[in-house]
Amino acid sequence: MVKLKHKEHDFSSKLRQSSVIECLKKYINWQRNAGTTDAGHALPNMGPISINLDLTSACNFACPHCVDSKIINTGEYLDIDDVKRSLDILKSHGLLSVILLGGGEPTLHRNFGEIVSYIKSMGLQLGIVTNGSRLSRITKIVALLEKHDWVRLSLDAASQETFVKLHRPKTDVTLHDILHSAREMKIGNPNISLGYSFVIMWEGLYLNGHALCSNIHEMPEAVRLARRHRFDYISFKPCLIRLQESQKETLLDSLDREKEQRIIENIKNNFHNAKRVAENKIKVLESVNLRAMMDNKVHELKRQPKICHMQFFNTVVTPSGIFHCPAFRGVEKAKIAEPNGYEGKERFDETLQNLTHSITAFNAEKECNVVGCFYHHVNWWVEKFIHSDRSVDEIEEMEDDNFFL
Ligand code: SF4
Repeated sequence: MVKLKHKEHDFSSKLRQSSVIECLKKYINWQRNAGTTDAGHALPNMGPISINLDLTSACNFACPHCVDSKIINTGEYLDIDDVKRSLDILKSHGLLSVILLGGGEPTLHRNFGEIVSYIKSMGLQLGIVTNGSRLSRITKIVALLEKHDWVRLSLDAASQETFVKLHRPKTDVTLHDILHSAREMKIGNPNISLGYSFVIMWEGLYLNGHALCSNIHEMPEAVRLARRHRFDYISFKPCLIRLQESQKETLLDSLDREKEQRIIENIKNNFHNAKRVAENKIKVLESVNLRAMMDNKVHELKRQPKICHMQFFNTVVTPSGIFHCPAFRGVEKAKIAEPNGYEGKERFDETLQNLTHSITAFNAEKECNVVGCFYHHVNWWVEKFIHSDRSVDEIEEMEDDNFFL
């Protein structure tokens, strides 16, 4: 059987893994039949294979570039018993992975350790995205994590000065402390994949009332630090600008063409140097939208099919509700249920019905036309397959490996 090659971002391959392919086939057949049956024709009785789980809205940093700034520190959090009930139902409907991230800092949840322990006892793959301020809480449970699990630190800097400017920590944590603790954590459990996340910012970005400082020149040094502190990979992605009024994300929209090209050249040079510093000793990843930016193809990522198919495979569970897309966290029109929408069979069924409506009614071509969509390629892959004359039995199966979407 074929193995996944580009694990991180090759989502259409991920949907073809042995444990997921039946779900994909049923969805494609459902789409093919939807037009020929009654309106409201129910989706296959399956849940998402991967969820983003936002445990709490609390955050102890005040990053000016935070895409979730409107929904953090509201005092909301998910109750541990509710989380467990939702996970039980989701697991029985096919859930394979959970990512703790977004909408707040997960390690600030009072039951963080217990929730991680529950997720791992269910045999689910687990990814944790953290600002690094409370790594001691992850270190306590790190022994529970296995080969496919990962911890990714949102650092975005290679110097203390830039780190403070970009994150405005409300505690006295330093970049040096975080890197030191990360190294200790990796030594504690070498099985985990440890990631250094670097959101690239440039001069002229003005967000949430703050002028952001450029960190482009720190990209190579970040790779050096990541190597020295035993990270497995560093991932670069460009800063997303969330338009206040529409809640949509965009890239480089307010800049003039010449300035835009200068920024892109600067990013390309530093990315090239970063790869040189890596000497193949650490993986240097680029996000789908960074690759598109460097290739001057961002406009392509903003063109979505009318139906967003990924809603069926991945949802976002937060203290303010369940949403069908990570880019639309907290946005009412993307809400498919209240936070308890997966608690118990009856609520799960209602949420599935709402999702059926969302898949039919949410017009991604229109609503996501400024979003550099992470799922652009897989959405088009599914769309084209649905409209092809190929049978689902011709879809090539891949070996199970990585279920994160
Ligand atoms: S941004 Fe992408 S994943 Fe999100 S709803 Fe739009 S098309 Fe779907």
